[in-house]
Amino acid sequence: MLGVVLRNLFTGPVTRRYPFERRQYFDGSRGKLLFHPEYCEFCGECERACPTGAIELDTAWDTRRQDYSIVWLRRYDPFKCIFCGNCVEACPYGAIELAEEPAAPGYRKEISVDEIPNWQWTEWVAS
Ligand code: SF4
Ligand code: SF4
Repeated sequence: MLGVVLRNLFTGPVTRRYPFERRQYFDGSRGKLLFHPEYCEFCGECERACPTGAIELDTAWDTRRQDYSIVWLRRYDPFKCIFCGNCVEACPYGAIELAEEPAAPGYRKEISVDEIPNWQWTEWVAS
């Protein structure tokens, strides 16, 4: 008993002073999914690799422009995502990343939609 008291007197606290001292995440922690649209080539590998259908790729007419542009749409439903990391492994361009910090709690169901206007339709003119 006395030994335990003396040992505890000379050792530091075993608890962290949260939130001033934050815990380090373990290597390989799987937190929120981050998408880097500037690297995406819309190859569709992430959509095919996702076991829950949380990622969907689509196209739509860009209604804000009048030059036959098509926007690429990438939908991500965090409520379907099980954070397995398959899409991160499948992406050949490093456009998806699992961050170490957890996703913030959601108050309503929101599906994120990224619009990437990188496909311009050339108008065909009959000669
Ligand atoms: S696998 Fe990567 S590059 Fe291909 S569509 Fe998904 S995010 Fe884009
Ligand atoms: S982490 Fe898994 S479940 Fe979530 S979007 Fe990627 S492949 Fe789908």
